[in-house]
This record gives sequence, structure tokens and C-alpha cells, in this order.
Amino acid sequence: MKKIGVLTSGGDAPGMNAAIRAVVRTAVYKGMQVYGIRRGFNGLINGEIDYMDVKSVGEILHRGGTILNTARSEQFKTEEGMKKAINVLKVFGIEGLVVIGGDGSFRGAYDLSQRGIPTVGIPGTIDNDIPCTELTIGFDTAVNTVLEAISKIRDTVASHERTNIIEVMGRHAGDIAIYTGLAGGAEGIIIPEMPLDIDNLCKRIIQGRHRGKTSSIIILAEGAGKAVELERIIEEKTGMETRATVLGYIQRGGCPTAADIILASRMGYHAVELLEKNIGNRVVCIRGNKIMDEDIKEALSMPRTFNKELYDLAQVLSI
Ligand code: ATP
Repeated sequence: MKKIGVLTSGGDAPGMNAAIRAVVRTAVYKGMQVYGIRRGFNGLINGEIDYMDVKSVGEILHRGGTILNTARSEQFKTEEGMKKAINVLKVFGIEGLVVIGGDGSFRGAYDLSQRGIPTVGIPGTIDNDIPCTELTIGFDTAVNTVLEAISKIRDTVASHERTNIIEVMGRHAGDIAIYTGLAGGAEGIIIPEMPLDIDNLCKRIIQGRHRGKTSSIIILAEGAGKAVELERIIEEKTGMETRATVLGYIQRGGCPTAADIILASRMGYHAVELLEKNIGNRVVCIRGNKIMDEDIKEALSMPRTFNKELYDLAQVLSI
């Protein structure tokens, strides 16, 4: 394979730029040409494609977001949209594609692979919700961003002797909540994977105060409820002043951590190695600190599990 393309799709995540850089530089190192496709599958359909060289990915390693921009494309899901996209790839002579995004983006990558364009997916999403990989690009940065916010919120919460419910991202996956809850010493973690026992949670908050705690932090994954609603319920049940904080999009931004940059660099390199061998229909993943790859269809059908061990540990340590 001599000409490949790279695009970012779905929600942006810190470290996507490091992955783009790794794809471009590995390809150039291996004597391949690389094209950057703007605005995800939308840009592919519209032919928003630029030639990329070693220089075009300079000075981006530390930048959050994605220099290629990202978008969601309904048109790409239609047979007509798919045909247009394939035609554009043919016109540019692009033989294989790297798609950096979440599971929705991998469905698109699967469709392209089935239609003769070898496509490799790289998991880039802060949610860490791709079952075939232990980590996704952007997750570690998001966890550190939330942790910083927790420590700031804790200062004010402790001063006022309040409870604060911090709503973090994670529609289907509680990973951000579990990791930040454990690392931030939260008194409670609420995730979509576990039923909420509100009475038990309130009992723990009250017990904490009785043994001298000045404040309580509860981390809530957005898929498990709304912080503003819980604020009212917890205040009523504990009789203690309670506030809600919704962190929102700050969790998506910022300079990626070293762990995310290294993960993105390793995954980008591996994706190009696969395309070099004409292998498509794979998702790059990391397991036991080893970079490997998985068939897209199988990756998409894997059941999602969550880190119950860390969740239980956080419960034990927050008594
Ligand atoms: P995130 O985890 O941040 O939500 P994602 O990749 O899962 O990222 P989606 O919006 O689900 O985000 O998907 C991104 C794009 O992938 C869609 O806008 C669409 O263009 C394409 N896509 C999603 N599902 C399919 C599908 N079934 N067939 C073809 N393309 C798809």
C-alpha cells in the first residue's frame, strides 16, 4: 500500500493529534503518502482532503482536540453516502484508511473494509468505552482533568461543610467516575453499571460527618442520573447542604498527558504497520501493555465490562 488516509470522527479526545502525527510520520518513514481527511466521514464524502507531510504534524503533539476536526455524518450511514465516500477515495488513489474515533466510527470503518477499502480503527474517546482495549486515547487526560477539578471543588466544599455531587462524562461507561472517584477520595461513586442505593449512600454521608469529615464528594457518571436531581434528594435525606457541579466539556480539552501521547503514538504506528501489510478491518487495542489488534466486527460485539475491582476498592477506602 502506497497511499493512505487518516481522519478523526465522533467526539474529540486529547491525544488524537498525537495519533495523527504517529500515523503521518510512520507512513512517511515507510515511504508511503498520507492524506488528511477533514471533518470525519463528512469530509470524506465532500472530498475535503489535503496531502500531509512530516512538517504538517509539527507542533501538535501537546495540543488537545484534533487538527483534522471531527464531525458526525448521517449521510455516511446511507448506501449513497458510502458510495460517494468510496468514489472520493478512488479519485485520490487512497488505498487504505485510519479512522480515529469511538465505536460508531468503527462501524463506518467496518463498512468501508467490507467494500474493499482496508480500514483500521484507533480508539480515541475519553469515555474508555471500547471493550476490546483496556485503554482509549484521551481517557487518562480526562481523568487527570477531573481530578484537578475535584481538588478545587473540595476546597470550597470543605470550607462550607457541604456535600457536592460532581457529574462527569460517561453515558454508558462509568470508567471516568470510577477512576476519578478512587483517585480523588470521593465518598461515593454512581455509575450506569451499578444500581444506586440512595439510602445507603446518604447513610454513608451522615456517618462520615459523625466521625468528623468536613465535606463529602460524590462522583456521578452522566449516564447514571442528573446531578441537579440528586442534589435535591440527598439534601432532603441527609438534611445537609448539598450542591451540584456539572463539569461538561472541560473534560474533553487540554494538553494530553504523557500516558495518552505515548498510547496514541504506539497505536498510530501499529495502524500503519497493518495497512502496510494490506490488513484492514482491525481495531488497534492495548492489553497488558501490549499493542495488538482485533477484528472490527468482533470488537463491536464484545460485551462491555467495567472495572469492578477498582469500584469495590473505592468503596472500601471511603468508609
Ligand atoms: P464517541 O465515542 O465520541 O461518541 P463515536 O465514534 O462512537 O465517538 P458516533 O457519533 O457514534 O461517535 O459515530 C461517528 C460517526 O461514525 C457517525 O457520525 C457516522 O458517520 C459513523 N457511523 C456511526 N455508526 C455507523 C454505522 N452503523 N454505519 C456507518 N457509519 C457509522
